[in-house]
Amino acid sequence: MTKYNHRLTFTLLGLCLATGALAGELTSRMDLSLDRVRSGGPPVYSDDFVLADAVPQHVRRFTEFSGDVSGRYLGALATVAQFSGQTIPELDRVAAKLLPLQKADGHFGDPFSTGAVTNSDMALLWGNGRLLIGLLEYYRLQPTPEVLACARRLGDCFVKIAPRFNDPAVMQQFSGDQVAVGYICWTQIIEGLVELNRATHDEKYLSLAKQIAGNTHRHPKQHSHGFVSALRGILELYRSTHDAQWLRKVETEWEGIITSGNLLPQGALPEIFKPMIANDEGCSEADWLRLNLDLWAETRNPRYLDNAELTLFNEFFFNQFHTGDFGHHVLTDEGIGSWSARAWWCCTLHGLRAFPQIFQAAFHSEPARLCYDLPVDGPGAVAGLALQADSTLAQDASTTLRVTKADAAEHTLGIRQPVWASAVKLTLNGQPLAGVAQAGAVEVRRRWQAGDKLTVHYVLRTRLLPHPEDASRVAVLRGPWLLGVNTQHAPTFFDEPPENARVLLPAADTAGDLPLTPAADTDAGPVRFAAPAAYLTLPYYPGGYPIQPQTVLLRPIAEHTAVADATRWALWFRPERRDGTNTAAQPRANNKPVGG
Ligand SMILES: [Zn+2]
Repeated sequence: MTKYNHRLTFTLLGLCLATGALAGELTSRMDLSLDRVRSGGPPVYSDDFVLADAVPQHVRRFTEFSGDVSGRYLGALATVAQFSGQTIPELDRVAAKLLPLQKADGHFGDPFSTGAVTNSDMALLWGNGRLLIGLLEYYRLQPTPEVLACARRLGDCFVKIAPRFNDPAVMQQFSGDQVAVGYICWTQIIEGLVELNRATHDEKYLSLAKQIAGNTHRHPKQHSHGFVSALRGILELYRSTHDAQWLRKVETEWEGIITSGNLLPQGALPEIFKPMIANDEGCSEADWLRLNLDLWAETRNPRYLDNAELTLFNEFFFNQFHTGDFGHHVLTDEGIGSWSARAWWCCTLHGLRAFPQIFQAAFHSEPARLCYDLPVDGPGAVAGLALQADSTLAQDASTTLRVTKADAAEHTLGIRQPVWASAVKLTLNGQPLAGVAQAGAVEVRRRWQAGDKLTVHYVLRTRLLPHPEDASRVAVLRGPWLLGVNTQHAPTFFDEPPENARVLLPAADTAGDLPLTPAADTDAGPVRFAAPAAYLTLPYYPGGYPIQPQTVLLRPIAEHTAVADATRWALWFRPERRDGTNTAAQPRANNKPVGG
């Protein structure tokens, strides 16, 4: 996609958001995180609190990652402001206070060491790298010479210290289990260097980006967010250079993440790659989502869109707290445990930063058609036709596409039929409309009129997902959502011993779909961010009293945003075997498995 198209989309989306026209889950979720950053807390993102890592003033945790919060704060708010058209006055204020804090050599924070490279040096690199891209994202919004000069001095500092950190011995030394202070602190700088080259056309920044890209490798126990940030940087390097080796490298590493078992079934990357999987991280999830959207835009290989969608409707939404923060949740054998952390020092800002790119990916344009890809809110346009999508997918498995501008010519609209939908049914202005089936899509070609309302209804499939490592357990997907049971809505499902519970699954039909019964939203479930379109009724034998079979409502884990932080989720279920040999305690005569 060209830069021009990016800007066109941003402008269109900005107009939509400025007029309050978009109204769906994605819009509500971005507003929630934006409000958190601008006026929520604790902690409050006051100017001093944000800038403490640039001074540095060690008055809160992680100020040794100098520039980290400062950079992400500027980048996230500037990007949201640019596409939404909102005025965010604190941005200019914080940027003005940041510039004088720059040290003589161009970096921010405590001095670099002069001897052997230390963990503190790596932390400094990390924060300053995040600050470089954040400054340049702010520069896109406010292109002033002062901001560019500041970014240049920081880039020049990286160029000056590069021989020290490009040293293979340093790469080797920090490619172990250093996690947040690993070699990723250096490789994540690529993104800012490529952007600095775009802004200045100075080749030395691109040249350093290439050197670092060549030294970017995935390894066990690596910090996934840092690694995927580096991959996004390398993809930007490809976009700037058109050198196919960089796209190849990103695609190869993408495959490596998956084949190494580091993409979890809910579309999550663990904070730390195997074998240290312990919890998720909002930053990693946001990065993985953005990387997949970027790869989709560059290649139009549907595997990237499918993966972006899996992460969006499951892990990314799940990861967002009711406060609007993003962060960490402990991963358990059963699913997700009760420990969590609102990571205001990184994930909250990185999560917010991802939203503009998701809106932008609702549609894509091709020379001969406009395509609606992700069933979320967002604007789409080709010459002569503009549409706006408002998604009510979570409520009624539908989205509405409104034509906001149309000329007299015929235009083709393609609507993706995702793998999770057995059909896509169209209604135009209240009348059924037959589309033309294409590979993975339904197409409509007609002379559109401003005000036309096309309703897209997705017929949701229910699918079984085998556990990647344990053949005795399965999860259930309905539409794009991974379903689970949580301790807040269904505490008795977790009655001791929960590991002995057996669920009763009907046989799959010829299409591979599971005919579980859709459930109406009958209990007092979460109001905001509820997805009743996906609710299913699951019969089961409780572990401790199989003599009394029960049913439980399966809900999307995306609803985690609306429940208490410490709520546990069971995602992996042990099905009752059809011969009954694994539930010896259970009476057979009068309690035939429901639908079994
Ligand atoms: Zn984080």
